[in-house]
Amino acid sequence: MASTIGILSLQGAVAPHAEAVRDCGAEARFVRTAEELSACDALIIPGGESTTMGMLMERFDLLQPIGEHARAGKPVLGTCAGMIVLSKDIVDSDQARLGLMDTRVARNSYGRQVESFESPVSIPALGGDDFPGVFIRAPHVEAMSADTETLAELDGRAVFVRQGRLLASAFHPELTSDRRLHEYFLGMVNS
Ligand code: GLN
Repeated sequence: MASTIGILSLQGAVAPHAEAVRDCGAEARFVRTAEELSACDALIIPGGESTTMGMLMERFDLLQPIGEHARAGKPVLGTCAGMIVLSKDIVDSDQARLGLMDTRVARNSYGRQVESFESPVSIPALGGDDFPGVFIRAPHVEAMSADTETLAELDGRAVFVRQGRLLASAFHPELTSDRRLHEYFLGMVNS
């Protein structure tokens, strides 16, 4: 049976993730409530604005259910703002968050002039050519626990990390036609 992948749909770049999931042969489900989440084998937290997303997760009573989903061993992928809300520590911020990953992230790491850019990223775990990294006011991972693995760096900064069944990218894989990162995530769901 195809896996059911929830996409947190409170705010941000939701639809392109659903398209990527479907391209990989899984079912995509929009998640706004704990009940919708409970029907999912895994969850994707999209990019957007992490302060708003944190606030909405609080308001929609989703912080605890998503925490339980992750503690039950169901995979979670956070992209960009999703990476930020997954992190335990956010530099200079007390914004609402899930705080599931033992990481410290810095927001808007790439400065005002180049808030958005595209760059090839070498990701050995995905095999093949460099991945087309779309960075939009992107964060990076400044520090992480020993059991968190850096899967990719850009200019010496960690931009794609994995801790167990939690996966986080600073860039937007859903905004390219390259499906390898979503396929990698679906591989985690099926293993
Ligand atoms: N800079 C945004 C934030 O801090 C994230 C940007 C994005 O998700 N593309 O939430």
